Amino acid sequence: MPGHVFGRTTKGVLPVAARGEGCYIIDSSGKRYLDGSGGAAVSCLGHSDAGLRAALHAQLDALAFAHTGFFTSEPAESLADALAAHAPEGIERVYLVSGGSEAVEAAIKLARQYFLEIGQPQRHRVIARRQSYHGNTLGALAAGGNAWRRAQFAPLLVETSHIAPCYEYRDRQEDETQEAYGQRAADELEAEIRRLGPETVMAFIAEPVVGATAGAVPAVPGYLKRIRQICDRHGVLLILDEVMCGMGRTGHLFACEEDGVAPDMITIAKGLGAGYQPVGALLASGRIYGAIAAGSGFFQHGHTYMGHAMAAAAAGAVLDAILGRGLLARVREQGAKLDAALRAEFGQHPHVGDIRGRGLFRGIELVEDRAGKTPFDPARKLHAQIKKLAFEAGLICYPMGGTIDGQRGDHILLAPPFIIEDAQIDELVGKLSGAIRGALA
Ligand code: PMP
Repeated sequence: MPGHVFGRTTKGVLPVAARGEGCYIIDSSGKRYLDGSGGAAVSCLGHSDAGLRAALHAQLDALAFAHTGFFTSEPAESLADALAAHAPEGIERVYLVSGGSEAVEAAIKLARQYFLEIGQPQRHRVIARRQSYHGNTLGALAAGGNAWRRAQFAPLLVETSHIAPCYEYRDRQEDETQEAYGQRAADELEAEIRRLGPETVMAFIAEPVVGATAGAVPAVPGYLKRIRQICDRHGVLLILDEVMCGMGRTGHLFACEEDGVAPDMITIAKGLGAGYQPVGALLASGRIYGAIAAGSGFFQHGHTYMGHAMAAAAAGAVLDAILGRGLLARVREQGAKLDAALRAEFGQHPHVGDIRGRGLFRGIELVEDRAGKTPFDPARKLHAQIKKLAFEAGLICYPMGGTIDGQRGDHILLAPPFIIEDAQIDELVGKLSGAIRGALA
C-alpha cells in the first residue's frame, strides 16, 4: 500500500533507502545500488563519510539553528570566507540558502536590485539558453530552457528569452573549428541583446557544463570568454549556474575556472552539502555587493533557513574534504578513467552518438543511427527503459529525454562520488552497458 508521502516518492512505488555505504545505497531489503550519478550530482563524498558525520555531530552538539535576524554563526562565517577565498576573481560575497533553485532565485533578484540601485530600472530582462535547467521555483523556472515546463505556469514573472546552447555534437559544422563554433554560438547572445535592446537586459544565465537537460555538455574553448566580452560590452551581468557542475565535479572547484572566465555571480548547491544537508549559495562580485551596500545597504531578500548552522557546517566540511584530501586531482584522474572506460565500451556502439563531459561529470547521447545522429522516437522513452533496467541491476544513473530540444533525444548523465574506485567504474560501465543492451533489445 502506498504511504502518505506526497508526490512520486512513496513506499509501495519506490524502494525504501535504508543505509549508505561509500558509493552504495542499500535499501530496506538489503539490495545494494551503486550510485553512478550521486543522485543528481549531489553525493560527491559518498554516503557515509566519516569526516562529514563528525562535523555534523559536533555542530549538532553545539547549535543547530540561530535565526539570521539576530545572529551569524561560526560555520556560516567560515564557509563564506573559504568560498570567497577560492572563488574566481572579483567574487567576494556569499549568500547562503537551502538549495539550487533558491540560489538562482536570489541571483535573479540580486541582479534586479543592483540595476534599481544604480539607476537603470529599465533593465529587467533575463537571457538564458534553450538547453538548460535552473530550478523549479517561479523565477528559476522562467530562466530554464524547457518550453514545456515553463508553459504550464505561464505567464511567468521574470521576462526571459532563450538562445541556442553551445552544443558541439549537434551544432558545430564539419569544416568549422571548435573556436570558430564557440564564437558563432556566443554571438547569438549579442544578437539577442540587440534585438531586445541592451538597456532592457539585466543578466545572462548559463550552466558552464549543461547537466540534467543535456547530459554533461561542456562549452567549447573560448565560448564563455566571448560571452563575458559580450556581457561587458552591453552592461549585462553574467550569472553562471554551477549548481550541478560546481564544487569540484569537473575537477576544478568551479567549472568556469577551466574556461578562464570570472562571472558576476555563481550559484552552487547540490555538491556543496554533498547530500548531508540541504544547502546552496549565491556568490556575488564585490562590484554588485558594493553598489547595494552604498545604496539601500540591504539585499531585499531572505529565507528563514538561510545560513543555517548545520547546513553551513556540512558545506564547510565538504569544502575542507575536497581541498584537504586532494579530491580535485582525484576527480580529474578518475574522470579520465571513467571517460576511457565509456569510450572502450561505447566508442563503436551503433547507438551511442556522443560521449562527453569533464571530470566526474560525463554524459552519453543515444541515437538511432550514428551517421545521421537521428534521435530515437521519443514515444519509445528509451532513457526511462535504461533507468529502470539499470536500477533493477543495482545501478543508479541519471537518464533523461528531450536532449536536443526538450522533445527529442535521449542521454544518460553520470556523476559518481569523487571517491569512486577503479573496480566501481568497471561495475558502473558494465551495468550501464547491460541496461542499454536490454533497453534496445
Ligand atoms: N540549477 C541547476 C543547473 C540544476 O541542475 C538544478 C537542479 N537539478 C537547479 C538549479 C535547482 O536546484 P534544486 O533542485 O536544488 O532547487
